[in-house]
Amino acid sequence: MSDSKAAFQCRQCGICCLGRGGVRLSRGEAGLVAAFLKISPADLFTLYLGAGPAPWEIRTGPDNYCLFHQADGRCLIHPVKPGICRDWPFLPGPLKHESAFLEAKAACPGFSKELSWAEFLASAPGGRP
Ligand code: SF4
Ligand code: SF4
Repeated sequence: MSDSKAAFQCRQCGICCLGRGGVRLSRGEAGLVAAFLKISPADLFTLYLGAGPAPWEIRTGPDNYCLFHQADGRCLIHPVKPGICRDWPFLPGPLKHESAFLEAKAACPGFSKELSWAEFLASAPGGRP
């Protein structure tokens, strides 16, 4: 299996948008998100981002979902969502450590059930890192 679509296909279940998982925006990403939402960077901070030790972290709501997660499972800022959301599951952890790959596979139903780590690596955009 070497096709990333066959290896991984998001089911839009929203599991990865649930809980305070440290999803942060970089300064550049925050500018893109503010422009996409047609609000000022200051309003982006007030309405959506964290305070205190992690000012760039996206806050979660009372339902414990990321504030950009919508009822239909879609991401409100999909075209400009942060790199960690955009690149999932091809992130440094699962690409470097089989244990991280297995954890990710157990948590996310988007992985093909029979997918091995070797197949995952081979299906990564750009091929094996
Ligand atoms: S947990 Fe996996 S399948 Fe579900 S929305 Fe997130 S990436 Fe998609
Ligand atoms: S930014 Fe979008 S994709 Fe990322 S956790 Fe929030 S709702 Fe989910």
